[in-house]
Amino acid sequence: MNRYVRNPQKGKPHGGNRGAGITNHEGNRAYVVSLSPLYGVMRTLHIPPNWRERLPDPARYYAEHMEGLGKPNAEGWAPCRCPFHTDRNASASANLHTGGFRCHGCDAKGDLVAFHQRITGSSFKEAVRDLIGLGGMR
Ligand SMILES: [Zn+2]
Repeated sequence: MNRYVRNPQKGKPHGGNRGAGITNHEGNRAYVVSLSPLYGVMRTLHIPPNWRERLPDPARYYAEHMEGLGKPNAEGWAPCRCPFHTDRNASASANLHTGGFRCHGCDAKGDLVAFHQRITGSSFKEAVRDLIGLGGMR
């Protein structure tokens, strides 16, 4: 009872609400809890400014991730089977110099990060972190 009497005198309406406001407080808390994992990921996922220099060698990367990777032409494009559609005839190409890829069968195309994003189903930052060895999924 003392607390209830004192708080209004100090001009702190929040103190007086403390008891009555339990439902309110829990409502807010549930809201914050449901959002905080998302905010946590967005805040901690940070990519260093020199991330482009730290990307893996495209030739090595695609040798590991592309099925049926063939020999590159003079421009660096090597034929491969597209991982994004059922591809029996190597209708995709990956550029072992630049890291770009493209598919003539399903229109998939992009750079090495976009490729990694797509095969891992991760966001841009997650993919970059994964590629430069910082861990993408944390
Ligand atoms: Zn394709």
